Amino acid sequence: MTAPGSELTLGILGGGQLAQMLALAAIPLGVRVTVLEPDPQAPARLCARHLCAPYTDPAGLDELAACDAVTLEFENIPVEALAALEGRVPVRPAGSLLARSKHRAREKQALREAGAVTAPFEVIEDEGDLHGALDRVGGRGILKTSELGYDGKGQARVNTDAGLRAAWDALGRVPCVLEGFVAFEREVSLGVARSPDGQVAFGPLVENVHRDGILRTSVFPAQVPHGTPAAARDMARAVADAWGLEGLMTLEFFVLPGGQLLVNEVAPRVHNSGHLTQDGGGISQFEAQVRAVLGLPLTDWAPLLPCAMVNVVGVDGPDGQPLTPDWAAIDALSGTRVHLYHKAHRHGRKVGHVNLVAPDADTLHERLASLEPLVP
Ligand code: AMP
Repeated sequence: MTAPGSELTLGILGGGQLAQMLALAAIPLGVRVTVLEPDPQAPARLCARHLCAPYTDPAGLDELAACDAVTLEFENIPVEALAALEGRVPVRPAGSLLARSKHRAREKQALREAGAVTAPFEVIEDEGDLHGALDRVGGRGILKTSELGYDGKGQARVNTDAGLRAAWDALGRVPCVLEGFVAFEREVSLGVARSPDGQVAFGPLVENVHRDGILRTSVFPAQVPHGTPAAARDMARAVADAWGLEGLMTLEFFVLPGGQLLVNEVAPRVHNSGHLTQDGGGISQFEAQVRAVLGLPLTDWAPLLPCAMVNVVGVDGPDGQPLTPDWAAIDALSGTRVHLYHKAHRHGRKVGHVNLVAPDADTLHERLASLEPLVP
């Protein structure tokens, strides 16, 4: 039978939970997945062919080069790996886009060039750059390392020049971006996919709440003024077109009190805030990425029903023992669906999520209020 992706193969750099969920979305399309991932316990090993080798392993990269296309589930892919694939197989998104999105200073400059709005920022590369930088971003800011920061790591809040100097010292005097502190009302995110022929599709505008720098809950629809979702889509389309996106990326935004959007950062892939698309009806963000990367027909993937997600993150209790979610009570709640990544417990590590769906927004918020206390 000729199904949409029959006999196509997709290679993925990385084998974590995002690769696991990409593979789970690929299988019903007829697509087979191979992941290159050094961790023998990688979550994706359960549902994809697992090449257990370093990302730069020549034999592993040869196997990926034999796929129809290659995508990724994290942005810090070694440049050697991308260079080894160059010209042999389409890598989507391309290395040039990754180089932007994994470097905060370059990312912000490229966002502005694409016409997107960001918080004021200053690039800090040497001591001289500190002079007057805090004043120029409004007197209060967040210093972030340009590379390798995630889940709030590699960041410091600063509100004095002395504090800025101390924070830069504490971050190891590495290249940083100093962003003006944004008094945002909410945080939202939006996925955008673009196929190799330039067709663009969007995910839902999702509202996100963080706890200790890690995403705690996502809710769709986001509670924002009427015009905000369309404004987010316009900005995402402008960036996707300007950056020549092939594949999927997710924009994180701050929403100001009037509804105006500032782009905080871009992930060149599916995103934790999009997991709720697995259970809200319609295609998921994972299917959208698979489709966009392989050039299969693409549609918007906003869920058909109000839905939410609560992350399950490893938490050690006061006695040092892991706190576990009340799984029986979670299963007994109407509209829940559990997704586990088959990862060992570690404090602060994402090990799964619970999706929640409801026929209307009021019911969703009632159910979410019941679900939240069940997840430590
Ligand atoms: P990031 O690693 O850039 O996603 O930042 C982690 C979290 O820190 C964000 O989700 C916000 O809650 C907060 N944050 C980051 N940048 C700013 C900013 N410029 N102003 C206020 N809060 C921020």
